[in-house]
Amino acid sequence: MEKYKAKLEEEKNLLEEELKSLGKFDSETNDWEASPESEVSHQDVLDEGDMSERAEDYEERSSKLNTLESRLNDIKHALSLIGTENYGICEVCKNKIEEERLEVNPSARTCESCMEKVI
Ligand SMILES: [Zn+2]
Repeated sequence: MEKYKAKLEEEKNLLEEELKSLGKFDSETNDWEASPESEVSHQDVLDEGDMSERAEDYEERSSKLNTLESRLNDIKHALSLIGTENYGICEVCKNKIEEERLEVNPSARTCESCMEKVI
């Protein structure tokens, strides 16, 4: 169990670093927000092309942020279960998740066969 915990902590740190580089945590909504182009001064005159490029950039950051955030939530969830008898239990069929699967993905919420069903 300890090895999974270490792995999860490590992945959590990495994800948080990455999230911080893309946006910031909003403690009011409990959500990560992609940061607007704050480094760009509003006094700068931007032409249209520049503006739409920036908007796309923001969209891209937002979607990447959402992906990272859901992974982070899975990891937090797994960390909250680790040390309890609920860790490593498939959320769908309530059987044990395969060791090999946890090795690769310690934040897995389903066993191998349920994962296929879910997808
Ligand atoms: Zn299952």
